[in-house]
Amino acid sequence: MTYTPNLDRYTLMEYRRCGRSGLKLPLISLGLWQNFGHVDVAENFRKTLHTAFDAGITHFDLANNYGPPPGSAEENFGRILHQDFRSLRDELIISTKAGYEMWPGPYGDFGSKKYLVSSLDQSLQRMRLDYVDIFYHHRPDPETPLEETMAALDLIVRQGKALYVGISNYKPAEAEKAIALLQQLGTPCLIHQPKYSMLERWVEEGLLDLLEDKGVGCIPFSPLAQGLLTNKYLSGVPADSRVAKSHGTLKAAQLTSEMLEKIKGLNKIAQNRSQSLAQMAIAWLLKDTRITSVLIGASKPEQVTDAVQAGRNINFSPDELNEIEVILSKN
Ligand code: NDP
Repeated sequence: MTYTPNLDRYTLMEYRRCGRSGLKLPLISLGLWQNFGHVDVAENFRKTLHTAFDAGITHFDLANNYGPPPGSAEENFGRILHQDFRSLRDELIISTKAGYEMWPGPYGDFGSKKYLVSSLDQSLQRMRLDYVDIFYHHRPDPETPLEETMAALDLIVRQGKALYVGISNYKPAEAEKAIALLQQLGTPCLIHQPKYSMLERWVEEGLLDLLEDKGVGCIPFSPLAQGLLTNKYLSGVPADSRVAKSHGTLKAAQLTSEMLEKIKGLNKIAQNRSQSLAQMAIAWLLKDTRITSVLIGASKPEQVTDAVQAGRNINFSPDELNEIEVILSKN
């Protein structure tokens, strides 16, 4: 099957400027953390990528270790890029990261220049690319001097292996230092990728204000709390869900009766807004214009189709916001 992209795709999606940069990102971006590894079904994830691009999603997020096995999401993405998107490289924003354990020994983890430079070289090979658009330091390293890690990001941009750089999982104080170091080096920090959803709120305590002040974009990951903020677990655990998969990172223990009560309550509000719960969870993040894009995951094309419709209604009444807070605050 040859892939012919939807010609109307750019009329279907809104694009927001990333901080004070020249780059715009789609309201919804697609991450390949899960569902794109060698353990997954190739025809399904190929179709998911087509569905996303056809809906105006231009940004695809990877990391060295995505799979399983680690590296296989980049390999599979590289193959599909080569097959279906070869003439479309300039319409894509592709990101990857290094920071978690990738290979044995002292040079395959955390934040040394040795690790970051080698890891990006490996990622480029796996994806069959000359450069990525965004390269992230995936998590802070408590031991490597931040100066070295940020100098490695600057070097990578000067080498032409990445156009922009970002940081992920950095708390406000360390993010502030990293942003200042990158500024001094002349390679501004484009974007921060934190975990943020209705169920995970730490970014509201200083990070969003900092990013706005410094002109850095924000792309929340796991906006659906890995699938909890959807209606899928309301009547049991479906066999093809992340909770049911042996390599899944969402555990059955997280489906407590308190959690299910919250999901039920939120689902009712979503229904009153004529949205799916997944759409409302995404819209709830997008109501804040400091959020550049929301980074979803999807195990099937239909989930992408569902998510992209979130952009149709990102306004919440004060009553709706209040009701959501009441539900979230229940133990
Ligand atoms: P989400 O919170 O969006 O969860 C995605 C999962 O939710 C899907 O795989 C699917 O699970 C379920 N789902 C999605 N849409 C629907 C829907 N409409 N209806 C029902 N269920 C749905 O995000 P992820 O946790 O997958 O993370 C997204 C991306 O964020 C990653 O791919 C990665 O790029 C990035 N990330 C970054 C991290 C970092 O440290 N920087 C860490 C983690 C993620 P199911 O399999 O059950 O169908």
